[in-house]
Parts: sequence; C-alpha cells; structure tokens
Amino acid sequence: MPKTRIMAFTWSTLKNLFSKPATKNYPAEPIKYPERSRGHIEIDIEDCISCSMCARSCPTGAITVDRKELTWAINRFDCLACGYCVIKCPKKCLHLVPGYQTPEGEKKEVSFKRPAPAPKPAAAPSAAPKAAGSASAPGKATLNGDIVTMANGKTMDLSKFPAEKKAEILKKLGLDAAPAPKAEAEGKATLEGDIVRLPNGKTMDLSKLPEANREKVLQKLGLK
Ligand code: SF4
Ligand code: SF4
Repeated sequence: MPKTRIMAFTWSTLKNLFSKPATKNYPAEPIKYPERSRGHIEIDIEDCISCSMCARSCPTGAITVDRKELTWAINRFDCLACGYCVIKCPKKCLHLVPGYQTPEGEKKEVSFKRPAPAPKPAAAPSAAPKAAGSASAPGKATLNGDIVTMANGKTMDLSKFPAEKKAEILKKLGLDAAPAPKAEAEGKATLEGDIVRLPNGKTMDLSKLPEANREKVLQKLGLK
C-alpha cells in the first residue's frame, strides 16, 4: 500500500476516535426538524367553515369534508405535504407543520369534528308599518267616524285627507274592513249631465267614454 494512503487512513481513524458520531440517537432523542420542513397538515377545527376548498384543491384527494356532520378528515398516507390546501383555505385554519406521521399498520383517516355553530337569534318581530307618520301598530288602531285613534293615544282626523289618501291610511292601519270609505265616497258622487263630480272634487267627463264603460262607471258610483 502506498505510503500516502496509509497516512490518510490513519488520519481518518484518529479523527473519528475523537469526534462525535455522525448518526443521531433517534428515536431515544427527539429529532429537531429544520425550519420550514414539510411535515404534516394540522387544522384549527374551530375556525373551519366546511367550505371544502381544501378538499377540492388536494391533488390526491386526501381530505374529506362533511358539511352535515361538521367533520374534516385527512388520510395522512395519501397526503404529499404539497401545501395546496393550506394556500386555498379561506379561513387560514390549515397549517403545514414539522413532524411526520407515526407509522401505522393500516391506512386510515384522522377525523376532526368542529363545534356546531351557535343557534341564530330568534327573528325580531317585524317593524309595524307606519302610517301617516304614526308609529303605532295597525291592529291596535281604532276608527270612530273619521277619527282614527292610534295605539299610542294619538288621533288623526281622516276628513282632512282626500278619499284616496284616506283609503290608503285605513289600509295601512288594517282598518280597511271598517266602514268602507269607498262606498261612502261613491254615495257622494254626483252627476251633472255627462260630468261626474267625485267626493274628492275631481271630475270625470263621461261623454269621452264608450257607452259600455259609461254604464259601468255609473253603476260603480251608484249613480244608476
Ligand atoms: S398538503 Fe397537499 S396532499 Fe396533503 S392534504 Fe393538503 S393538498 Fe392534499
Ligand atoms: S378550506 Fe379551510 S375552512 Fe374550508 S373546509 Fe378546508 S379547512 Fe375548513
């Protein structure tokens, strides 16, 4: 053996005698994973909204999301640790963390169940329709002649309003079943030749209407 090779061999032997072993005492001593190593996927299940974006983006179909059962499951044996699901998760509740799966005898999923969402508060009773600036509930208003008494005690004189507005207010207050303003209005309409004068002061020229319509209008207004 050449002299130079003997010298190299002796040098390596002496160096290894006085240096630490190149191997690690794993698993007796836990291993330190390098920063940003691609280990396995972890989930903050409380933040998951079961949107399935992770499952749809997973190239191996390792993730299963059950929206009804509120579960999120991963088959770690199928996971490539590519990190697509982490990127796609809108709630940022998936993380690629160091550490590899423990060896298992069979391929199985690891499932997480998220807490059920809090029940929605009961729907607030719908706001009572307002009528003519009043905040009272329509069902509680009462009608006495032309005077409406609101639930809050305020009164409104309907005689100040034209018939159409009056009918509209009564309808909003749920009092349109009460003595019909329409009938009342119709009774007050008058006919002068071909001109009908309505209680609200408006006039209608019947001569412009076809005969059939003219008859209908007169009947409707109680003028025939
Ligand atoms: S890291 Fe990749 S392979 Fe693993 S579950 Fe996420 S998307 Fe699928
Ligand atoms: S993408 Fe995120 S929020 Fe959506 S189901 Fe997956 S883990 Fe849950």
